Amino acid sequence: MPSIVVVGAGIIGTAIAHELQRRGQSVVLVDRSAPGEGASYGNMASIAITEFMPASRPGIWAQMPKWLIDPEGPVRVRPSYMPRLAPWFLRFLAASRPSQLRALEKAGAVLCARVHDDLEALLKETGLQDMLSAEGCLSVYSDEAEFHADRDHIEILDRFGFRYEILAGNSARDLEPALTTKIGKAVLLPGNRSISDPHKLVVALSERFQALGGHIEKGEVVGFEHGDGGVTAIRLKDGRRMEVGGVVLAAGAYTARLSSMLKEPIPLETERGYHTQIMAPGISMRHSMIWPARAFMVTPTAGGIRVGGTVEMAGLEAAPDYRRAKVLVKRAREALPELKVEQTSEWMGHRPALPDTVPVMGPSARRANVWYATGHGHLGLTYGATTARLMADLITGVNPPVDMKPYRVDRF
Ligand SMILES: Cc1cc2nc3c(=O)[nH]c(=O)nc-3n(C[C@H](O)[C@H](O)[C@H](O)COP(=O)(O)OP(=O)(O)OC[C@H]3O[C@@H](n4cnc5c(N)ncnc54)[C@H](O)[C@@H]3O)c2cc1C
Repeated sequence: MPSIVVVGAGIIGTAIAHELQRRGQSVVLVDRSAPGEGASYGNMASIAITEFMPASRPGIWAQMPKWLIDPEGPVRVRPSYMPRLAPWFLRFLAASRPSQLRALEKAGAVLCARVHDDLEALLKETGLQDMLSAEGCLSVYSDEAEFHADRDHIEILDRFGFRYEILAGNSARDLEPALTTKIGKAVLLPGNRSISDPHKLVVALSERFQALGGHIEKGEVVGFEHGDGGVTAIRLKDGRRMEVGGVVLAAGAYTARLSSMLKEPIPLETERGYHTQIMAPGISMRHSMIWPARAFMVTPTAGGIRVGGTVEMAGLEAAPDYRRAKVLVKRAREALPELKVEQTSEWMGHRPALPDTVPVMGPSARRANVWYATGHGHLGLTYGATTARLMADLITGVNPPVDMKPYRVDRF
């Protein structure tokens, strides 16, 4: 019996491959690069269980002119990319309709509520518990007006029962002494812990997968062969073909290229994001930190302090614009005045983004033995273990513990 082939060795594909192999399936994980070299390499390392609010909010269209004009703003649409982005963007705007918004919020909240159980089980199973920090995240505000502007975020946490604690600026500084006195208020999000090195997590998982008997194949998938029962083989760029018993497409922002070869289009875009890794920051932090009004995040990681965020809509091919990384560091220094910017590296990654913010996880609507796991957007690291658990249930014929309808591929 040919193996199940998982295409894409990012956090999503690797976690799925590991879980399937653990359940006794024979699995091959295929990637054109080494595991964890895509978006999963340099994300902000946050298990961001409170960040499931859909990106499209009522009235968001009014911000659009700013996105086109300011190359250093928190959201940037490269004007030359706008014509290609338009169909996705219209769906994005449609997702903010109040009737749809409530269902999308719930779809995210249902996943986030499971994240720690699934993640901690995975880390325990693989002996990687030390990678998860003990501390959560501080969301900081300079004044009441900034706090008020973030009220949607707090309201949604109340509605779905996620824990948080409102702190005065001084109490936030007791937790993180490096924080500027300009911060007048903060919200502690204790569940938003972080991973010491997201790239190493994927590499370690891929090693555990191989130790269980799983196989990794380096190659770029460029086509599929079909029979009556679905896909029978995948074709690789170097001319090889591999027979398959089933295929899981988890190629991150590139998954739509593969799904369109199967005549199953997915409205997948990429929200490009940047980080600067500061190896010698001169300060230490225990919590990660977001400053919503300035739209950046800071996370203490194994290799120093990581500063990142931003959304840039410019597709999969355009060269990085590292001005966007530099501006985030400037803002981080306003929050952390003693931060030294020494021994740095910059990185850009492609978040796989669906217009309604909810990932696709489930079977193909057209081929019997094809499954999709993509579109995890800003939360792929957060959702990794949960996606693996739910996808392995679906693929092995077990009833998943949550209703999977909101995540189906043919919802668009
Ligand atoms: C700046 C930034 C900060 C972020 N911060 C966070 C955070 O704090 N918390 C969080 O939860 N998420 C965060 N994210 C999002 C998260 O990183 C992504 O959602 C996640 O990494 C997506 O994982 P993936 O496995 O789907 O994709 P990827 O990691 O991109 O993996 C896809 C893989 O598919 C392979 N591939 C593509 N096409 C083919 C092909 N044809 N054949 C073979 N292989 C192929 C690629 O080589 C790649 O290895 C952030 C992202 C960015 C960019």
